[in-house]
Amino acid sequence: MPTEVEPAVLHRLLDLQDEDTAIKRLEEQKAALPEAARLREVNDLLQELTSDLEIATKQDEEIAREHSRLEGEIELLDQKIAREEQRMFAGTVSNPKELSSLQAEVESLKRKKNGLEDQLLEVMEARESSSATVARITGERDQASAEAQELTRTVGELVAEIDAQLAQHSSQRDQVAAEIPPDLLSLYEKIRAQKHGVGAAALEQGTCQGCHTKLPQKEIERMRAEGGLQRCDNCRRILVIA
Ligand SMILES: [Zn+2]
Repeated sequence: MPTEVEPAVLHRLLDLQDEDTAIKRLEEQKAALPEAARLREVNDLLQELTSDLEIATKQDEEIAREHSRLEGEIELLDQKIAREEQRMFAGTVSNPKELSSLQAEVESLKRKKNGLEDQLLEVMEARESSSATVARITGERDQASAEAQELTRTVGELVAEIDAQLAQHSSQRDQVAAEIPPDLLSLYEKIRAQKHGVGAAALEQGTCQGCHTKLPQKEIERMRAEGGLQRCDNCRRILVIA
């Protein structure tokens, strides 16, 4: 690694570091969008509500079928009762034994009808509750669906915005990187990979901006006198001395 590096090139290395830092920050921002996290939550909720709604709808339909079945049975009984009563009062049956058996039959049919009407009342109550459940879950699902749509739009816009900034920084980075000698660039990349994305740091007021350590005055004087490529004694990052 040659230590002969033009100060201007070293300053371009700081520009490159600025671009890399901006790119890293944007990528982190893109990966940790709170709106995207919320969208994942809402999508999970939406899936849950959709499955709940399916179950509630099935239950409601079952109760509705039971409702119609009971109504149908009651209607048939009504018809039967009407027929038997007609026979009773038409005067065509005069045999007292036959008449009293007919009467018993009508009473039995009416008891059966009363039983079915009690069942019908229960089913109607159950249906009221099952319909209310379907309505409530539908409302919640529609709300979650609307929120998911809105969040999808927002996340799309935010990602597009970040991607535009990333594209800009990437192209600037490529321009700056082209001005850096390949061996210096590869040293910078190597350090950057090991040091949390920071390969080059400025020395400001005697402090390395990479590790925020104040360097001894003597050391700074030595580096100034030597010039060229210098590295922080503490963090080993490329140190750019103003
Ligand atoms: Zn340092």
